[in-house]
Amino acid sequence: MAFENLTEKFKRIFKTIKGEARLTESNMDSVLKEIRVALLDADVNYKVVKNFILRIKERALGEKVYTELNPSEMVIKIVNDELIKLLGSDSSEIKYNKNKPTIIMLVGLQGSGKTTTAGKLSLLMKNKLKKKVLVAACDIYRPGAINQLEQVVNKVGVDFFSLGDKVDPVDIASKAKTKAYNDHYDVLIIDTAGRLQIDEVLMNELKCMKDKVEPDEILLLTDAMAGQDSVNVAKTFNELLGLTGTIMSKLDGDSRGGAALSIKEVTGVPIKFIGVGEKLDDLDIFYPDRMASRILGMGDVISLVEKVQENIDEKEAKKAAKKLEKGEFTLIDLLDQMKQVKKIGSISSILGMIPGMPKISKEQQDLAEKEMKNFEVIINSMTYEERIHPEIIKYSRKQRIANGSGKTIADVNRVLKKYEQGKMLAKQMGSMKKRGGMMPPNFPKF
Ligand code: GDP
Repeated sequence: MAFENLTEKFKRIFKTIKGEARLTESNMDSVLKEIRVALLDADVNYKVVKNFILRIKERALGEKVYTELNPSEMVIKIVNDELIKLLGSDSSEIKYNKNKPTIIMLVGLQGSGKTTTAGKLSLLMKNKLKKKVLVAACDIYRPGAINQLEQVVNKVGVDFFSLGDKVDPVDIASKAKTKAYNDHYDVLIIDTAGRLQIDEVLMNELKCMKDKVEPDEILLLTDAMAGQDSVNVAKTFNELLGLTGTIMSKLDGDSRGGAALSIKEVTGVPIKFIGVGEKLDDLDIFYPDRMASRILGMGDVISLVEKVQENIDEKEAKKAAKKLEKGEFTLIDLLDQMKQVKKIGSISSILGMIPGMPKISKEQQDLAEKEMKNFEVIINSMTYEERIHPEIIKYSRKQRIANGSGKTIADVNRVLKKYEQGKMLAKQMGSMKKRGGMMPPNFPKF
């Protein structure tokens, strides 16, 4: 994930200052110097860094922090506030029209993630916001572009509009708008053509399209991995077209994150969404405050809670809780639990959101995820009877299950051991409930 290095550096900087009894002009100067280096290392635009440091300095002096206040808290607070401002403190969510379709033009260079994001956006709008969405294919130049978009859109299950690749893109957009009005769509997403770099012909086409369809939003796809280049692209697109927002894709990659931290300040255009993976549900609404606290290493509890709420089937959760209360636990429950965890997202992305969570290495994460997959294959190779009453699984059954799942007997034993631990925990939880919520004395710590 982007920002990892920056987060580590901020943590270190705050730690050094924690030891200071009070803030003095000289220790403040050295903190600012370190923050400056950390931001430049993260590929943040140098002018942005300069102004950011100036603002922190001004505030630090203005707020008379050189008193009894806890220096580290004060610095964190100021840096956090200023980071939020840098990322765009005003609300930048899309405003949907009430009585007519909201028209969104997606623009950007080739490979920036436009097609994928058209799909991700439609999914988010369809599922979370319950919008009726139409997606129009206006990239008639790149071979296969229309097909690729149609596939993505079909996967999401929203409607697709195309007039093939022989009609002028401005006409296609205009006809799509008419359809969106006539058929009462809530949202029309127009996927436009990309180029390898900005060129005049493309810009003219986009300008004509803008004049013709009068979109509510023109959103530019920017690639986090392209660093400061994408900030420059955003600047040019904004000057020529007037953007209402950007969507930064590929923030899951190992970019240093500088583009995300520079783009609002340099262009004045807010980031509205971020792409955090290749899958269709890997698009998040961008919240500057959450991103700031994540960058500062404070975790993002709100995002975690939302993610959990969205993904865990409430009924299932209640059912599981009831069973736990009774101390009942089968291999089916173990599998269900694992599936819920999988639904929430990868273990690593969850752990990253919990403040104070010890960092686990990439190898450890991979190992944990691999183990979960192994368990699933093994449990799937068992009969129903075996899943409900694992105690009947003796040597010959183990042999059969191992053969059926392509694993070893040792692997099967590991699942059974995990099951025993889960069962014990279930019993303890059950008795805890009976004892009025008191933790059992040997309750394992996470
Ligand atoms: P387009 O040319 O602008 O339409 O770009 P595409 O939508 O075809 O995306 C280009 C590549 O980037 C594809 O391989 C996508 O899977 C990938 N991609 C798009 N968004 C993201 C993202 O948020 N994270 C990652 N890791 N890959 C992405």
